[in-house]
Amino acid sequence: MKIKAHSFLVLLLSFVVHPSFAQNVPATVRGGCIVIAARSGSGSSDLSTCDRIQNTNLSVYRGWAADFLLAAFDDAERSTCGTIRCAGGSRGVDLVILNSGFAWASVSFNAMSIQQSKQLTIFISTGLIDFVEAATTSYLVQSDDPANGLRAWLQRIDSHANSDCKWHVESPLHQVDQNTFRMVRASAHAVYKFILGHELAHVMAGGMCGQRGLSQLDGESACDRYSFEHEWSSGVGPNMVIVSLVAMAHYHSLLNERLGALISPSSGLAYSEIFPAADWRTRASRIADLWVEECQSDTTAPACKEPLWRQLLADARRYINTPLPADCNDSSRARTAENNKAGDLEGTLCGDVKTFTDAATTDFASLRGTARRSSDRPVWNTNVVFAKTASCKIFARDTYTGAFTVCRFTPATQDDATQSQYKNLSKQMASCLVGWKQSQKTSADEQRTDFYNGDKHAAVVLNTDDGVRTEVWFYAKD
Ligand SMILES: [Zn+2]
Repeated sequence: MKIKAHSFLVLLLSFVVHPSFAQNVPATVRGGCIVIAARSGSGSSDLSTCDRIQNTNLSVYRGWAADFLLAAFDDAERSTCGTIRCAGGSRGVDLVILNSGFAWASVSFNAMSIQQSKQLTIFISTGLIDFVEAATTSYLVQSDDPANGLRAWLQRIDSHANSDCKWHVESPLHQVDQNTFRMVRASAHAVYKFILGHELAHVMAGGMCGQRGLSQLDGESACDRYSFEHEWSSGVGPNMVIVSLVAMAHYHSLLNERLGALISPSSGLAYSEIFPAADWRTRASRIADLWVEECQSDTTAPACKEPLWRQLLADARRYINTPLPADCNDSSRARTAENNKAGDLEGTLCGDVKTFTDAATTDFASLRGTARRSSDRPVWNTNVVFAKTASCKIFARDTYTGAFTVCRFTPATQDDATQSQYKNLSKQMASCLVGWKQSQKTSADEQRTDFYNGDKHAAVVLNTDDGVRTEVWFYAKD
């Protein structure tokens, strides 16, 4: 994930130090990551990804971002459930700032489910930090200094539509006075708190935040709602979160094909197809709706001050409604001119496949627990790796086979769509399972690609006998 080409915001970070966060945070550098040991515990984080990333530019984030993020994490956990460690429990927690211009955050755990994990690792990319800083600053200076405001920044991003993808957007940041600076810090804190609260929501309420059978977008929105309800009463309006998401929407819309090629070149999917939940405009709009809902039931909340909140909301909705840019042209010439090659991110996304293939030599039966009914079995959300996965379930040994895991996909309505889903999935699996033997088989009611490595076995199956469906299987040893 050594992306320098997309790291388009050079922040003037020398002034971004808040005195009240100048504590001594245990932060170390590993490869292209700054690792902040937020909570100690008996587990340890898998940080091998960091070793493959360049640490150029990382030094600008040291000394302020670590303190700042830890303060936001502490605050988010207290807001989530009352005290430090109330969400993480006895687990160790690392906050990892990862050098990547691609704006994202995620929570990972080295087990089949968060409940079984002893360690949480929350990754936050430097690209996301840049985004939050730029969005909050430019939003706050919009009326006094429109040339450096959010509208101008969004227009500069949009202006690259239909052009070459190799570009840099100049930093919208500039020297601000002490008062604006304090507002920027408070605003950015609220955004990080929301993001970290969203990750804690996954921990507290499970993968889809207590919901079942949702689309990826609706599942993530459920976690947004959880985070919003717990984190929002900080006095800073939700408009800060909304405008940060709007900026992300413009950026991802422009780079939709380019990022898809970077993450999974073999599948030919665009970014929005790999991550349907990265529909930032819809999520921003749903947060605006939550804001209204909240202010209708609690008129005394700081973010519901009349008539200010209605004006801020109307302004936030104008940002949401700004049309998104078309793709930049993802030419192979542009790619070779970049520092990073297509496919750089693929290794990271194969991490979940590795979790399963590693477990496939031990036993799924014990992971399944005592659940008898299918609906009670542990569900593993594989959306990160495979687009459009509904869920994976672990089954015990049955008459025909050893214990196994099946990942079902949302049924497609057209045969064509199912066929292409099956093909994409087989390609994605092949690119993750390097060195595995592969074989393909077609029968009257089934098409399958099998992967073998020693006694490990995985398969992508397109089954047409009882309704068309695509599945990924991971087998345990017989
Ligand atoms: Zn999430």
